[in-house]
Amino acid sequence: MTKPDPCPDEHARIALNAYQDCLKACAAFEGFFLPELEQRTDQVWWKGTLESNAEELAQRIQRYLLEANMTGEGCLELRAPNTSATTPTPQRIHWRHHRQKVYQLVAWGLLGEVPTKRWVVRHLCNNRLCIHPEHLEVGTQAQNLRDQQLNRTKNWPHQ
Ligand SMILES: [Zn+2]
Repeated sequence: MTKPDPCPDEHARIALNAYQDCLKACAAFEGFFLPELEQRTDQVWWKGTLESNAEELAQRIQRYLLEANMTGEGCLELRAPNTSATTPTPQRIHWRHHRQKVYQLVAWGLLGEVPTKRWVVRHLCNNRLCIHPEHLEVGTQAQNLRDQQLNRTKNWPHQ
């Protein structure tokens, strides 16, 4: 069903860079401490993941990126299995007793930070199925809404 990958070398390079960047980000996280953490279960999960499961996190990010389908626009799409063809949903995973959207895993894993309420993952390409690290950015909810409005009139530049 999936079309041939338009750029397999570029695809593999993105995945390998993400693996390396994730390990670097997790190493930088060590010793990091915020007293307001440990309040939410997802923050505890992220702290444990970044501190103690960096290698597996980096491997998973690399694997999901390789599994994703590179589109003509340069997005790396990963859709949930058995998702609706007309309104596909982003892939979610279950890992360490926690459900997580893969694009969240990629964005926060490469940033090496624990998510807080104020910050959301923005899709700069306006494609919610996309997990391309360069298309994801952590920003505020207000920025995210503004992105969606802007993207209705603006096309993502083709690469
Ligand atoms: Zn994208």
